[in-house]
Amino acid sequence: MNETDIQIQWQDGSGESVEIGYFNPNGQQCCGHCGVPGTDHGQYAYKTECTICGYVYGTNGTDMHERRCPECQGGATGIQYWKESRNN
Ligand SMILES: [Zn+2]
Repeated sequence: MNETDIQIQWQDGSGESVEIGYFNPNGQQCCGHCGVPGTDHGQYAYKTECTICGYVYGTNGTDMHERRCPECQGGATGIQYWKESRNN
């Protein structure tokens, strides 16, 4: 097994608006988190996909329900939602 091939396990958050598959009113879909902390206190960074333009970015759990796409809706820049590779 190749170490770079480890599959990421995406997890639901706690709450309706951070479950995998949730769509917010702006057409942004929650794809879950992989344990990476967000930039907001006590939050995870959720992988978020814009169902309008297909852009994928990171969102704090608290913002999920009202998130706007950074690409096509003028939303804030996405945060890091993936695990940092160990290269130090
Ligand atoms: Zn978009």
